[in-house]
Amino acid sequence: MAERSPAEIARETFRLLSVKKLAPTPENYQILYHEVAGTMVPAHFPFERLRLIAAALPAKNPGQQKQCGLLESAITQRSWDGVQNALVGYAGFGMLGASSSGNSGFGESGFGAPASATGSASGQGNPALTPEFMEQIARLIDNSLPALGNDDPRFLEQARELLGFIRQPVPDLPRAKTMLANFTHRLSFTAEDQFEIKNALLQLLHLVFTNIGELCLDDQWLRGQIDALVLASTPPLSLRRLDDVQRRLVDVISKQSEAKARAFEAQTQMRQLLAAFVDRLSLMGESSGVYHSKIEECARKIEQVQTIEELGPVLQSALSATRSMALDTQNSRDQLQAMRAKTEQAEAEISKLHLELDRVSAQARHDPLTGALNRRGMDEAIQREIANARRKGTPLCLALLDIDNFKKLNDDLGHEAGDEALAHLATVTRESMRPQDTLARYGGEEFVIVLPDTLLDLGVGALTRLQRELTKKFFLRDNQKVLITFSAGVAQLAESESGTDCIKRADQAMYLAKRNGKNRVLAG
Ligand code: GH3
Ligand code: MG
Ligand code: MG
Repeated sequence: MAERSPAEIARETFRLLSVKKLAPTPENYQILYHEVAGTMVPAHFPFERLRLIAAALPAKNPGQQKQCGLLESAITQRSWDGVQNALVGYAGFGMLGASSSGNSGFGESGFGAPASATGSASGQGNPALTPEFMEQIARLIDNSLPALGNDDPRFLEQARELLGFIRQPVPDLPRAKTMLANFTHRLSFTAEDQFEIKNALLQLLHLVFTNIGELCLDDQWLRGQIDALVLASTPPLSLRRLDDVQRRLVDVISKQSEAKARAFEAQTQMRQLLAAFVDRLSLMGESSGVYHSKIEECARKIEQVQTIEELGPVLQSALSATRSMALDTQNSRDQLQAMRAKTEQAEAEISKLHLELDRVSAQARHDPLTGALNRRGMDEAIQREIANARRKGTPLCLALLDIDNFKKLNDDLGHEAGDEALAHLATVTRESMRPQDTLARYGGEEFVIVLPDTLLDLGVGALTRLQRELTKKFFLRDNQKVLITFSAGVAQLAESESGTDCIKRADQAMYLAKRNGKNRVLAG
């Protein structure tokens, strides 16, 4: 048969549509067209349905967001392979959500496997209840047990029974359902108990810190650390804050033992000095006793002398006794002066040590005015968060904000008001950020906010939210509302970028925000 032109094929297709009384839909036209042309009918691609499904998928974590993006582009390209890969990838990030600890075991098998692998192995007539699915439930129970502690032996026994039951090759489903319901009921109580226990422990810790704080009123340096501990142990608590509490405690303990050792040394020195002083006093007492008896003897002899010649030797011995007494006194005075100098030196050393401890501990990681981290604390926090982000493969944002027209605020209301405004901004920021975010004072009126697990647009969103908060929570000065605004730049840490370089990019964005009229947030 001679090859037909596309126009002829189209005409013939229309003819067949009417002969076969088929509705002129694109699908019918396509099928008949290929029939006439003798070519393969491409598999139907339900473009619209797939797009609806893609839109309905929740994108709660960065992994899911990425897979949703891949799914959409696969649908646009009508690529079944792409759709399959994106869905399989999405499932790998599903369920685990933000609480994924990386060792749950789910990621390695069940959820990552293609859907067909579970669908075909049913055996129960219901593709959702495959042995693999039951195994996933068993693992879910297994993995949640450590988080619930082992204070309730009956609960653990129930969990073990349930695990054994649903891991049978063909478990009795109605019974499994009843057992699961009982287990869930008990689980809710146990989880609630654990929550209460955690809170009670935290309150206890808080109380201990507060009490230690009351006891060490005189120890400025220890008090500074205790105040920070009280703050750090205030709920809500995160692993990062617990880590902070631990580092602070180590700091307190090491500084305390350092001070103790030094104070003990100083005490020993003082004790030695005191002993030497007492020795010296008794020696002086002895020598003056000897002097007195010598002088008394001379006085007695003088009374008895008859001639002037006899008086000579008596006077001589009185003179020599007086001279040696004077010499003794001189020696004693010298030694006492040396001792006094030593004591003063020890005292000076101790007060220097106290000053040093004051400085080191109170200023260690926090800026005293705002309570935010200082530069040193910030560097440590950034290093820690970068390491965390790289280990977990999560995004990290750094934001730099600079108060607008702060010099004018100082000029109009005074430097003290400026200080209060800085503290106010820090308080509002802490209230508006998530517990895992960290605020640091970067310099005068500039602050850095470290935002773990945050993509760039969400980081910009967080700073914009803070801007709004500041318009609601005014800074009050002499009962007058003072509006504080800031300009900010946000940068997301790039692969193998250093914290310093990332802040530099945030700084450039902040500078652009200033140039564009201030009171705005720009992405770097
Ligand atoms: P811009 O909107 O361009 O940022 O203008 P600005 O006035 O905020 O910035 P500028 O750099 O000109 O001035 C910053 C002012 O911040 C000057 C300095 O006196 C003041 N400042 C820095 N640290 C402190 C502080 O600890 N307390 C107070 N009260 N003022 C501070
Ligand atoms: Mg500035
Ligand atoms: Mg400024």
